[in-house]
Amino acid sequence: MDLLKKTIEEEGVVLSPSVLKVDGFLNHKIDPILLDEIGKEFAGAFRNLGITKVLTIESGGIVPAFTTALYLNVPVVFAKKAEPSTMRNPKTCRVHSFTKNTDYTICIEQNTIHEGDRVLFIDDFLANGQAYLGIKKLVGDCHARLVASGFCIEKAWQPGHSILKQDGFPFKVLASIRHMSPEEGISWNYDTAETE
Ligand code: 5GP
Repeated sequence: MDLLKKTIEEEGVVLSPSVLKVDGFLNHKIDPILLDEIGKEFAGAFRNLGITKVLTIESGGIVPAFTTALYLNVPVVFAKKAEPSTMRNPKTCRVHSFTKNTDYTICIEQNTIHEGDRVLFIDDFLANGQAYLGIKKLVGDCHARLVASGFCIEKAWQPGHSILKQDGFPFKVLASIRHMSPEEGISWNYDTAETE
């Protein structure tokens, strides 16, 4: 997606060879025009899959998941990273955080995802695929079906891409980074299909 790649090139900060900061437009300060386009793009890719819910994890995934859900005209649910005392029947799963290098628990209220739901997972980054695996387990625990996933940005050399490919569900990446470093900047994957 050209607009996203252009914004990453202009405003993203490569903190290290494995961490890209996108606080200027995606997960702290938000560019609403860009996020609207992202939602349109994901919704267009998954429109024919009979999606009934969009699911993400707080907080970086919430806005792209919201704009996608808006275009698909379905509800969006975000998994919380701490279990609120108000939750009556939480479904939980442990996930390893790429950026913080610690484990955390994601949870959703059981009745937010129902048996028979066809779920689309949307997230800001695909790195090691741990968030995806946690979401897949939660969706399964709710007797629903994870039918597809969409990621704004992937770092293609990290294991997430292969995990998704092996699982065989459709997924779409809007900006696939082949390599990055603070010195050389970002190089893109142009040859991989964006929708798998
Ligand atoms: P994974 O579960 O695929 O290992 O990592 C995905 C999660 O880690 C995303 O939800 C995102 O919040 C975070 N993440 C992974 N890589 C990066 C990165 O390079 N920059 C930022 N800002 N977050 C990242």
